[in-house]
Amino acid sequence: MSSSLPEIASGREAEQAIAPGPILLLGAPGVGKGTQAKELVKMWGIPQISTGDLLRFHKDHGTELGRIAKGLMERGELVPDDLVNDMVADRLARPDTLRGYILDGFPRTLNQANWLDERLANETGSIPVVAVSIQVDYNQLLRRITGRRNCPVCGTIYNIYAKPPGVEGTCDVEGAALVQRADDTEAVFAQRMKSYAALTAPVVDHYHTQGRFVEVDGDRPIEAVSDEIVAAVKRLRAS
Ligand code: AMP
Repeated sequence: MSSSLPEIASGREAEQAIAPGPILLLGAPGVGKGTQAKELVKMWGIPQISTGDLLRFHKDHGTELGRIAKGLMERGELVPDDLVNDMVADRLARPDTLRGYILDGFPRTLNQANWLDERLANETGSIPVVAVSIQVDYNQLLRRITGRRNCPVCGTIYNIYAKPPGVEGTCDVEGAALVQRADDTEAVFAQRMKSYAALTAPVVDHYHTQGRFVEVDGDRPIEAVSDEIVAAVKRLRAS
């Protein structure tokens, strides 16, 4: 029987009416950008755009971009800016980005940041970005990265130290054998951290000086980190 009371939007529906605009998740490899992006997707219903995932898709499908990216990714080096910018431009042209999107792993160089700033400045009615920098200390990152295992079927992410599956090496949901990313080894991690310090740390400073920037401590439970990010995005959007 239908009620005569007016419908009250649930928290989730009310959140989905808000246009969060572009959100940049910045931080070293393993700080939890992907995990936090997925929390924000649930909250706001906007897409996660992970340049790492897009590049892995190209690599797995043997496209020209994928062939160029493969060796660089396996060594923990960055893919050239022009190629990544074009790939992001294609993705941003899709209509699901109109209310906003979460960029996870982009921009990673000042050149990419300048390209994005310019693109947004030339877009009519675009909402300015909010940049979130997630901080976690080096040793903790090393454990997160080298312990990370993924289910190739459902994408669930485990960690052999902090969040092991019930049966070693097997996904709890799918029963599939878990896999380790080729770039999640200690040697490649060291190279990725070197790239991060040299090329990506200046991007964090760039957005810091622009305002609409927040730094969060990523060494806490997932929900505590995402609550802080959501509160910060709302505060920065309102200011
Ligand atoms: P991620 O999954 O974000 O850790 O990215 C995996 C790898 O993809 C990185 O180590 C880089 O080789 C490449 N990559 C991802 N995003 C970018 C980007 N914005 N610019 C250049 N290379 C990238």
